[in-house]
Amino acid sequence: MGMFSNKKNPDRFNNIFKGKPVKGLTLRRGSQLLTLAVLTIMGIQFADFINKLEQGLPGGVRPAGVEGFLPIGALISLKHWFASGEFSMVHPAGLVILILVLGTGFLLRKAFCSWICPVGLLSEVLARVAHLTFKIRIKLPRWLDWPLLSLKYIILIFFAHSIFIQMSPQAIREFIELPYNRVADIKMFYFFAHITPFAAWTVAILALLSYLVPYFWCRYLCPYGALLGVFGPFSLTRIKRTPESCTDCGKCSAVCPSFISVDKKINVLSPECIGCMECVASCPLDDALVIATPAKFKLTPRAFAIALFVLFWGGIGIAQMTGYWQSNIPRHELQHRVQKGLDDPVEYGHFRGGYE
Ligand code: SF4
Ligand code: SF4
Repeated sequence: MGMFSNKKNPDRFNNIFKGKPVKGLTLRRGSQLLTLAVLTIMGIQFADFINKLEQGLPGGVRPAGVEGFLPIGALISLKHWFASGEFSMVHPAGLVILILVLGTGFLLRKAFCSWICPVGLLSEVLARVAHLTFKIRIKLPRWLDWPLLSLKYIILIFFAHSIFIQMSPQAIREFIELPYNRVADIKMFYFFAHITPFAAWTVAILALLSYLVPYFWCRYLCPYGALLGVFGPFSLTRIKRTPESCTDCGKCSAVCPSFISVDKKINVLSPECIGCMECVASCPLDDALVIATPAKFKLTPRAFAIALFVLFWGGIGIAQMTGYWQSNIPRHELQHRVQKGLDDPVEYGHFRGGYE
């Protein structure tokens, strides 16, 4: 197992992992904490909503944002939209979030991963704790790193092929209206609320792996990250180094969580770049490392953060105002299903059942 100890720039590296603010990157912490706060409120609301459904009580708010945790369903809704022109209102928030994430990927690389994604935040916390424990970053040797890097693309290809090639428009339409899909958010809640020993062990092993190898889940397994990585080389923004100004101090490479040799490149086009801007913030010079755009103007990390905030949260606000956020599934249907139970394999299999 290879080790990456950042001897070139221990102060900067330690500052990052101790959470000290560096040149506007407190914005990234703020962005991650905002997501965490929103998700916490959503989790409490959703638990209360399901509790009221179970007990047949009125009230409760179903936070539509929970659909963001149904990426496969969102991909299916995306194909349905492309194929039929119809924007499915079964889980519209999931589709809106997918579109916004893809939009940020095209404009701002994988910034979603490092500025918004809660799993990215969890991975970063684990990486920080590991650094406090071991004082070094562990990087897998190339012969193991490269094959593992391909895993998330294989998972993505599997899902993309299943949805975009194998499923006919009719099968897509039927899937969207299945009872299974209509309560997928509630089933997901029960999955975590009543987690099985096998699932708990799986989550624990992934957390342990992400502790030992920084960003293990994000770097090797996350299909959402793979999808955004596809946009990497085509994204409108990129990290650009000016060799004439650069002093080859290596500080940018030393802090890169994706182990990219920033100090050896002119443009960082790697699909593994998560747009965290740690490299730009760590560069001691003003013009050696910048966030470049095709229009030749440069973005500061602060402007990058504002653009991401406006795109993502503004997009959600527009979806809410224009009626593309709340599901059209009536509350009485959800109550009926929850009280009847969601365990019937006939009614809640992927391609069976129907609501009467
Ligand atoms: S190249 Fe820069 S922006 Fe990209 S992951 Fe590395 S540190 Fe973050
Ligand atoms: S781009 Fe900046 S941080 Fe990176 S090697 Fe050059 S001077 Fe150092």
